[in-house]
Amino acid sequence: MSQPALAPLREVIAKHGLSASKALGQNFLFDEQLLDRIAAVPGDLDGARVYEVGPGPGGLTRALLRAGAQVSVIERDARCLPALAEIAEAYPGKLAVQEGDALAEQPPLAAPYHIVSNLPYNVGTALLVRWLSGESWPPDWASCTLMFQKEVADRIVAEPGSSHYGRLSVLAQWRSSARLAMKVHRSAFTPPPKVMSAVVHLVPTPAPEGVRFAVLEKLTAAAFGQRRKMLRQSLKALPGALDALEAAGIDPTRRAETLSVDEFVSVARLLSN
Ligand code: SAM
Repeated sequence: MSQPALAPLREVIAKHGLSASKALGQNFLFDEQLLDRIAAVPGDLDGARVYEVGPGPGGLTRALLRAGAQVSVIERDARCLPALAEIAEAYPGKLAVQEGDALAEQPPLAAPYHIVSNLPYNVGTALLVRWLSGESWPPDWASCTLMFQKEVADRIVAEPGSSHYGRLSVLAQWRSSARLAMKVHRSAFTPPPKVMSAVVHLVPTPAPEGVRFAVLEKLTAAAFGQRRKMLRQSLKALPGALDALEAAGIDPTRRAETLSVDEFVSVARLLSN
Protein backbone atom coordinates (compact mmCIF):
# COMPACT_ATOMS: atom_id res chain seq x y z
CA MET A 1 0.00 0.00 0.00
CA SER A 2 1.35 3.49 -0.80
CA GLN A 3 2.23 5.58 2.24
CA PRO A 4 1.68 9.32 2.65
CA ALA A 5 4.75 11.48 2.04
CA LEU A 6 6.18 12.91 5.27
CA ALA A 7 9.38 14.89 5.73
CA PRO A 8 12.40 12.85 6.93
CA LEU A 9 12.61 12.76 10.73
CA ARG A 10 15.91 14.67 10.86
CA GLU A 11 14.25 17.53 8.96
CA VAL A 12 11.28 17.40 11.34
CA ILE A 13 13.62 17.68 14.33
CA ALA A 14 15.37 20.68 12.79
CA LYS A 15 12.14 22.37 11.68
CA HIS A 16 10.49 22.11 15.13
CA GLY A 17 13.68 22.70 17.15
CA LEU A 18 13.45 19.36 18.95
CA SER A 19 16.82 19.31 20.66
CA ALA A 20 16.89 16.16 22.81
CA SER A 21 16.09 16.67 26.49
CA LYS A 22 18.03 14.41 28.85
CA ALA A 23 15.52 14.98 31.66
CA LEU A 24 12.75 13.54 29.46
CA GLY A 25 14.88 10.53 28.44
CA GLN A 26 14.89 11.62 24.81
CA ASN A 27 16.94 9.38 22.53
CA PHE A 28 15.33 9.34 19.12
CA LEU A 29 15.31 6.63 16.44
CA PHE A 30 15.41 7.69 12.78
CA ASP A 31 16.19 4.45 10.91
CA GLU A 32 12.95 3.46 9.20
CA GLN A 33 13.99 -0.16 8.66
CA LEU A 34 14.83 -0.57 12.33
CA LEU A 35 11.55 1.12 13.33
CA ASP A 36 9.59 -1.20 10.99
CA ARG A 37 11.31 -4.20 12.59
CA ILE A 38 10.28 -3.00 16.07
CA ALA A 39 6.69 -2.42 14.87
CA ALA A 40 6.68 -5.98 13.47
CA VAL A 41 7.55 -7.59 16.85
CA PRO A 42 3.91 -7.85 18.06
CA GLY A 43 2.89 -9.53 14.77
CA ASP A 44 0.36 -8.26 12.24
CA LEU A 45 -0.95 -4.89 13.43
CA ASP A 46 -3.22 -4.21 10.47
CA GLY A 47 -6.42 -2.80 11.99
CA ALA A 48 -5.14 -3.33 15.58
CA ARG A 49 -5.25 -0.70 18.33
CA VAL A 50 -1.85 0.39 19.64
CA TYR A 51 -0.87 2.56 22.60
CA GLU A 52 2.52 4.29 22.39
CA VAL A 53 4.13 6.19 25.24
CA GLY A 54 6.56 8.96 24.28
CA PRO A 55 6.32 9.23 20.49
CA GLY A 56 8.71 12.21 20.42
CA PRO A 57 8.98 13.33 16.77
CA GLY A 58 7.06 10.20 15.78
CA GLY A 59 9.50 7.73 14.19
CA LEU A 60 7.96 4.65 15.81
CA THR A 61 4.47 6.15 15.43
CA ARG A 62 5.00 6.33 11.68
CA ALA A 63 6.17 2.70 11.58
CA LEU A 64 3.07 1.60 13.51
CA LEU A 65 0.84 3.54 11.11
CA ARG A 66 2.69 2.03 8.13
CA ALA A 67 1.85 -1.37 9.64
CA GLY A 68 -1.84 -0.41 9.48
CA ALA A 69 -2.43 0.16 13.21
CA GLN A 70 -4.84 2.59 14.81
CA VAL A 71 -2.48 4.46 17.14
CA SER A 72 -3.01 6.42 20.35
CA VAL A 73 0.02 8.24 21.75
CA ILE A 74 0.80 10.16 24.92
CA GLU A 75 3.73 12.62 24.91
CA ARG A 76 4.91 14.79 27.77
CA ASP A 77 6.95 17.22 25.67
CA ALA A 78 4.63 19.82 24.10
CA ARG A 79 7.39 20.74 21.61
CA CYS A 80 6.68 17.42 19.81
CA LEU A 81 2.97 18.13 19.25
CA PRO A 82 3.29 20.02 15.90
CA ALA A 83 5.36 17.15 14.41
CA LEU A 84 2.76 14.65 15.64
CA ALA A 85 -0.06 16.81 14.22
CA GLU A 86 1.60 16.57 10.79
CA ILE A 87 1.56 12.75 11.05
CA ALA A 88 -2.09 12.78 12.19
CA GLU A 89 -2.94 14.89 9.15
CA ALA A 90 -1.17 12.44 6.82
CA TYR A 91 -3.09 9.47 8.33
CA PRO A 92 -6.63 10.87 8.80
CA GLY A 93 -8.55 9.23 11.65
CA LYS A 94 -5.66 6.85 12.47
CA LEU A 95 -3.67 8.76 15.10
CA ALA A 96 -4.89 10.22 18.40
CA VAL A 97 -2.40 12.45 20.22
CA GLN A 98 -2.60 13.25 23.92
CA GLU A 99 -0.25 15.63 25.70
CA GLY A 100 0.47 14.36 29.22
CA ASP A 101 2.38 12.17 31.64
CA ALA A 102 1.89 8.44 30.97
CA LEU A 103 2.40 7.77 34.70
CA ALA A 104 -0.66 9.85 35.51
CA GLU A 105 -2.99 8.61 32.75
CA GLN A 106 -4.60 5.35 31.69
CA PRO A 107 -4.52 4.20 28.05
CA PRO A 108 -7.68 5.67 26.42
CA LEU A 109 -8.30 2.53 24.35
CA ALA A 110 -10.84 -0.27 24.46
CA ALA A 111 -9.43 -3.76 25.05
CA PRO A 112 -7.64 -5.46 23.43
CA TYR A 113 -4.78 -3.20 22.42
CA HIS A 114 -1.03 -3.61 22.00
CA ILE A 115 1.48 -1.43 23.82
CA VAL A 116 4.51 -0.55 21.68
CA SER A 117 7.00 2.00 22.94
CA ASN A 118 10.58 3.17 22.95
CA LEU A 119 10.21 4.07 26.60
CA PRO A 120 11.83 7.02 28.33
CA TYR A 121 14.44 5.29 30.52
CA ASN A 122 13.56 7.17 33.69
CA VAL A 123 9.93 5.95 33.79
CA GLY A 124 10.13 2.68 31.82
CA THR A 125 10.30 0.27 34.74
CA ALA A 126 7.55 2.07 36.68
CA LEU A 127 5.26 1.87 33.64
CA LEU A 128 5.98 -1.81 33.09
CA VAL A 129 5.29 -2.66 36.75
CA ARG A 130 2.05 -0.71 36.50
CA TRP A 131 0.96 -2.61 33.36
CA LEU A 132 1.82 -5.90 35.10
CA SER A 133 0.07 -5.07 38.35
CA GLY A 134 -3.65 -5.08 37.56
CA GLU A 135 -5.68 -7.17 40.03
CA SER A 136 -7.82 -8.49 37.18
CA TRP A 137 -6.08 -10.68 34.60
CA PRO A 138 -5.79 -10.99 31.63
CA PRO A 139 -5.17 -7.25 31.29
CA ASP A 140 -6.67 -5.01 28.61
CA TRP A 141 -3.39 -5.17 26.66
CA ALA A 142 -2.76 -8.10 24.34
CA SER A 143 1.02 -7.62 24.21
CA CYS A 144 3.75 -5.18 25.22
CA THR A 145 6.71 -4.45 22.95
CA LEU A 146 9.05 -2.19 24.87
CA MET A 147 12.53 -0.78 24.43
CA PHE A 148 14.62 -0.72 27.62
CA GLN A 149 18.24 -0.32 28.53
CA LYS A 150 19.73 -3.75 27.79
CA GLU A 151 20.48 -4.35 31.46
CA VAL A 152 16.81 -3.80 32.39
CA ALA A 153 15.67 -6.02 29.49
CA ASP A 154 18.01 -8.75 30.80
CA ARG A 155 16.41 -8.46 34.25
CA ILE A 156 12.88 -8.79 32.82
CA VAL A 157 13.61 -12.04 30.95
CA ALA A 158 16.20 -13.54 33.36
CA GLU A 159 15.98 -17.10 34.64
CA PRO A 160 16.78 -18.32 38.17
CA GLY A 161 20.48 -18.57 38.93
CA SER A 162 21.40 -15.74 36.58
CA SER A 163 22.93 -12.59 38.06
CA HIS A 164 20.11 -10.58 36.37
CA TYR A 165 17.33 -12.63 38.02
CA GLY A 166 15.41 -10.58 40.55
CA ARG A 167 12.18 -8.89 41.53
CA LEU A 168 11.48 -7.61 38.01
CA SER A 169 11.95 -11.10 36.48
CA VAL A 170 9.41 -12.64 38.87
CA LEU A 171 6.88 -9.79 38.54
CA ALA A 172 7.14 -9.97 34.74
CA GLN A 173 7.06 -13.74 34.40
CA TRP A 174 4.52 -15.00 36.94
CA ARG A 175 1.66 -14.27 34.54
CA SER A 176 3.22 -13.28 31.26
CA SER A 177 5.77 -14.76 28.92
CA ALA A 178 8.65 -12.37 28.37
CA ARG A 179 11.30 -12.68 25.67
CA LEU A 180 14.11 -10.55 24.35
CA ALA A 181 12.97 -9.72 20.82
CA MET A 182 16.00 -7.76 19.57
CA LYS A 183 19.07 -5.90 20.72
CA VAL A 184 19.54 -2.32 19.57
CA HIS A 185 22.99 -0.75 19.38
CA ARG A 186 23.42 2.58 21.14
CA SER A 187 24.56 4.17 17.86
CA ALA A 188 21.03 3.72 16.45
CA PHE A 189 19.81 6.56 18.70
CA THR A 190 20.20 10.32 18.41
CA PRO A 191 21.82 11.26 20.69
CA PRO A 192 23.36 7.85 21.49
CA PRO A 193 22.81 6.84 25.12
CA LYS A 194 25.73 5.51 27.18
CA VAL A 195 24.41 1.94 27.18
CA MET A 196 22.98 -0.64 24.78
CA SER A 197 19.23 -1.19 24.47
CA ALA A 198 16.93 -4.11 23.78
CA VAL A 199 13.30 -4.69 22.90
CA VAL A 200 11.31 -6.98 25.17
CA HIS A 201 8.06 -8.62 24.12
CA LEU A 202 5.53 -9.69 26.76
CA VAL A 203 2.30 -11.62 26.27
CA PRO A 204 -0.10 -12.29 29.16
CA THR A 205 -0.42 -15.92 30.26
CA PRO A 206 -3.14 -17.30 32.57
CA ALA A 207 -2.71 -15.96 36.12
CA PRO A 208 -1.97 -18.55 38.83
CA GLU A 209 -5.02 -18.94 41.08
CA GLY A 210 -5.18 -17.38 44.53
CA VAL A 211 -2.14 -15.09 44.34
CA ARG A 212 -2.30 -11.33 44.82
CA PHE A 213 0.15 -9.10 42.96
CA ALA A 214 0.69 -6.91 46.04
CA VAL A 215 1.74 -9.97 48.08
CA LEU A 216 4.14 -11.21 45.41
CA GLU A 217 5.58 -7.70 45.18
CA LYS A 218 6.25 -7.55 48.94
CA LEU A 219 7.69 -11.06 48.97
CA THR A 220 10.10 -10.43 46.08
CA ALA A 221 11.09 -7.02 47.47
CA ALA A 222 12.05 -8.65 50.79
CA ALA A 223 13.73 -11.70 49.21
CA PHE A 224 15.81 -9.78 46.67
CA GLY A 225 16.37 -6.78 48.96
CA GLN A 226 19.07 -8.95 50.57
CA ARG A 227 19.76 -11.31 47.68
CA ARG A 228 23.05 -12.64 49.10
CA LYS A 229 21.35 -13.70 52.36
CA MET A 230 19.53 -16.95 53.03
CA LEU A 231 15.75 -16.68 52.82
CA ARG A 232 15.37 -17.35 56.55
CA GLN A 233 17.23 -14.07 57.08
CA SER A 234 15.86 -11.95 54.22
CA LEU A 235 12.22 -12.93 54.88
CA LYS A 236 12.41 -12.66 58.69
CA ALA A 237 10.63 -9.31 58.81
CA LEU A 238 7.77 -10.36 56.49
CA PRO A 239 4.92 -11.70 58.69
CA GLY A 240 4.06 -15.35 57.89
CA ALA A 241 6.77 -15.71 55.25
CA LEU A 242 8.93 -18.28 57.05
CA ASP A 243 5.88 -20.46 57.80
CA ALA A 244 4.82 -20.16 54.16
CA LEU A 245 8.31 -21.21 53.02
CA GLU A 246 8.10 -24.29 55.21
CA ALA A 247 4.57 -25.12 54.03
CA ALA A 248 5.74 -24.83 50.42
CA GLY A 249 8.60 -27.25 51.18
CA ILE A 250 11.30 -24.70 50.37
CA ASP A 251 14.59 -24.95 52.22
CA PRO A 252 15.03 -21.66 54.14
CA THR A 253 18.80 -21.80 53.69
CA ARG A 254 18.37 -21.17 49.95
CA ARG A 255 18.90 -17.70 48.50
CA ALA A 256 16.28 -15.75 46.55
CA GLU A 257 18.04 -16.07 43.20
CA THR A 258 17.71 -19.90 43.29
CA LEU A 259 13.90 -19.92 43.60
CA SER A 260 11.92 -20.45 40.40
CA VAL A 261 9.04 -18.14 39.54
CA ASP A 262 6.67 -21.03 40.40
CA GLU A 263 8.25 -21.36 43.86
CA PHE A 264 7.78 -17.63 44.51
CA VAL A 265 4.18 -18.03 43.36
CA SER A 266 3.52 -20.92 45.77
CA VAL A 267 4.88 -18.95 48.72
CA ALA A 268 2.88 -15.86 47.68
CA ARG A 269 -0.26 -18.02 47.39
CA LEU A 270 0.14 -19.24 50.97
CA LEU A 271 0.72 -15.66 52.11
CA SER A 272 -2.29 -14.37 50.14
CA ASN A 273 -4.66 -16.61 52.13
N1 SAM B 1 9.43 7.24 20.28
C1 SAM B 1 10.50 8.15 19.94
C2 SAM B 1 11.57 7.42 19.17
O1 SAM B 1 11.57 6.18 19.23
O2 SAM B 1 12.38 8.07 18.52
C3 SAM B 1 11.07 8.85 21.19
C4 SAM B 1 11.54 7.92 22.29
S1 SAM B 1 12.36 8.75 23.62
C5 SAM B 1 13.36 7.43 24.22
C6 SAM B 1 11.14 8.84 24.92
C7 SAM B 1 10.00 9.84 24.72
O3 SAM B 1 9.14 9.78 25.85
C8 SAM B 1 10.40 11.30 24.57
O4 SAM B 1 9.75 11.87 23.47
C9 SAM B 1 9.93 11.97 25.89
O5 SAM B 1 9.58 13.33 25.73
C10 SAM B 1 8.73 11.10 26.23
N2 SAM B 1 8.40 11.07 27.68
C11 SAM B 1 9.25 11.14 28.73
N3 SAM B 1 8.59 10.99 29.90
C12 SAM B 1 7.27 10.81 29.57
C13 SAM B 1 6.10 10.60 30.33
N4 SAM B 1 6.14 10.52 31.66
N5 SAM B 1 4.92 10.44 29.67
C14 SAM B 1 4.88 10.51 28.31
N6 SAM B 1 5.96 10.69 27.53
C15 SAM B 1 7.16 10.84 28.15
